Amino acid sequence: MDDVTAILDHMNPAQREAVSAPQGNMLVLAGAGSGKTRVLVHRIAWLMQAEGLSPYALLAVTFTNKAAREMRTRLEALLGISLRNVWVGTFHSIAHRLLRTHWQDARLPQHFQIIDSDDQLRLVKRLLKDHRVDDERFPPRQVQSFISGCKEEGLRPHQVDAHGDAYMAQMVELYERYQLTCERGGLVDFGELLLRSLELLRDNPALLAHYRERFGHVLVDEFQDTNTLQYAWLKLLSGMSTPMTVVGDDDQSIYGWRGARIENIRRFEQEFPGTKTVRLEQNYRSTSAILDAANALISHNSERMGKELWTAGDRGEPISVYAGFNDLDEARFIVDTLREKVDEGVNRREMAILYRSNAQSRVLEETLIRQGVPYRIYGGQRFYERLEIKNALAYLRLLLNRDDDASLERVINVPARGIGTRTVEVLRTRARQTEVSLWQALHDALLDASLKGRAATAVRAFSELIERLDNDTAGLALHEIIDHVITTSGLIEHHRSEKGEKGQARVENLEELVTAAKAFTQGESFEPPEAGEGGAALEAFLSEAALNAGDHEADEFEDCVQLMTLHSAKGLEFPVVFIAGVEEGLFPHKMSMEEPGRLEEERRLCYVGLTRAMRKLYLTHAELRRLHGKETFQRPSRFLRELPEEYLEEVRLRGQISRPVTASRPGPRQESVDGGADLPSLSLGQRVSHPVFGEGVILNAEGEGERARVQVSFEGEGDKWLVLGFAKLTPL
Ligand code: ATP
Ligand code: MG
Repeated sequence: MDDVTAILDHMNPAQREAVSAPQGNMLVLAGAGSGKTRVLVHRIAWLMQAEGLSPYALLAVTFTNKAAREMRTRLEALLGISLRNVWVGTFHSIAHRLLRTHWQDARLPQHFQIIDSDDQLRLVKRLLKDHRVDDERFPPRQVQSFISGCKEEGLRPHQVDAHGDAYMAQMVELYERYQLTCERGGLVDFGELLLRSLELLRDNPALLAHYRERFGHVLVDEFQDTNTLQYAWLKLLSGMSTPMTVVGDDDQSIYGWRGARIENIRRFEQEFPGTKTVRLEQNYRSTSAILDAANALISHNSERMGKELWTAGDRGEPISVYAGFNDLDEARFIVDTLREKVDEGVNRREMAILYRSNAQSRVLEETLIRQGVPYRIYGGQRFYERLEIKNALAYLRLLLNRDDDASLERVINVPARGIGTRTVEVLRTRARQTEVSLWQALHDALLDASLKGRAATAVRAFSELIERLDNDTAGLALHEIIDHVITTSGLIEHHRSEKGEKGQARVENLEELVTAAKAFTQGESFEPPEAGEGGAALEAFLSEAALNAGDHEADEFEDCVQLMTLHSAKGLEFPVVFIAGVEEGLFPHKMSMEEPGRLEEERRLCYVGLTRAMRKLYLTHAELRRLHGKETFQRPSRFLRELPEEYLEEVRLRGQISRPVTASRPGPRQESVDGGADLPSLSLGQRVSHPVFGEGVILNAEGEGERARVQVSFEGEGDKWLVLGFAKLTPL
């Protein structure tokens, strides 16, 4: 069988052993870039071709939807067949598939909707308000994470023991109320998807038996990031008898803060009978300078399972470290370097900028835009999370499910139709008291005339609009439904009348939604419902939108620089990588600096970041950074010190003297403002002295000539904006 051995081509002996091992439980424990994901894909192909398993007998769990798609594509290439509808997906998408198929057994309405963490937070806020709970003592985010935490541990409200503690008891009560609201509206959050599908299988022995029978092999990538619930889910599904192949790296566990348990790796070895452990030790991704530096960094962690990782590759270029004087300068260095690389012939899509916090992206984005470098934010500014898109989706959800309170509240007065907060408050109170949905409460209030006058007219008009939208779109194709809804609801007009580019962008996004819908029904991942019925397509589309909120796919094939958080970079690789903001308090994040456990997780995150780079790695930090509206002095990260100097190369501040102060913030101006003939020529980051305020550093500049202003951070005096023509600044 030629095909079968072809699967083992270009694999080292350990990889080959893992791919072709007889069916049984297996753990592949190996460092970054050693081919774990590749082994997983080839093992699936092997199981089909050599072991004769049907594609539908395999369940493969990946960490992101993108990874799932990639896996499917790679498999199709390897096997030369189309693999629609195979069970390859994230835990969430697989759980969703189970619930959608068995909604009755799962005690869910047929058209249940997935809510993302944003919706979840809104819901929590409303609950706190409705029940007059002090949101200072019970901050909404804390309540939200309590609820998610309980679900991740597989706990329902009645199973949480408050130990007689009043605070805990209140939390549990909120969890219970939250759950009730979700049940009533047919809403399912991400944690619920998993917990509900676990309960579905656990409580339906026949169903469980069916799936255990059906799946001949279960495979899991990034196993180190499974949480308690996911582990339990896998254990239940496999029944310990369906063989499992899991691959992971304890050094890359970065979701402890979200409930992931590294211990699951050890537990797997102990609990799953006959587990064979395979270690892969050769890295194929990075140069030896990058790999050795990453190995040195991670050796500072104490809780490790211990692995070897080497590469036969060249030493390559040293890791470049750049110290910017502020975040703007850091961004400028990155973008200048990117452009140089493009000139040298590197594709933009081969370069990634990684950062610890989402908020860091803005300055980088602005610099990229100013310099006209196309970029893409992966998992960041998510298309499906944009306000106008969420509004449109809320209308669409209402068409399927009038009892979806979150959606109703979102759009009842968008665009404005004279339904004020007071009216909404009245409806909410009524809904709460009579324990019905807002939609129901609204109709009750109209019936018994407790809403009167203009409020009643406005509310009636809204109700009629929804009904009309529903009627008018019956039988239409998905993209026609969406087109009709965004037009007839007034959403498009609403944004069109907004001033400026923002409104325009929103209109474009709404139009993009119609395009997305078209692509969706024509796409691979979608099974057309019987007779192309729009309702079913709409439901599938809405679920997909909620599940995909994490990845923005619109321009995947464009040649764009990739921006993403370190967390979203897991599993990916790029020839050139920049890690920005390698500073104490930012990375490691200040919230993790006190706790040794959290600090180790930050170090693992840094290890993940370093090992994304194939050929060239840049680490940058800024001495001054504007964070949360405040400018602060930053120290370089301890992680930089933990990298052996022999692999590093410091990039000198290029042209510090010659570079004139440039107008940078605010506004996209680029011209230099060297202050005219009689004024001193200054650069950003330059040290200066002032007769009254003493010594300081130039942070920023704007304007030109006589009116040029600079912002100086004075020691002891704080930041001040000074007009260059008046302030007697002396360069030091
Ligand atoms: P991570 O821990 O970051 O998820 P990984 O262990 O999953 O990494 P892969 O992404 O599977 O590693 O592989 C890393 C790179 O090495 C990929 O580009 C892959 O194609 C390549 N690779 C893996 N094994 C081999 C091999 N035997 N020969 C050549 N290239 C290989
Ligand atoms: Mg991988």
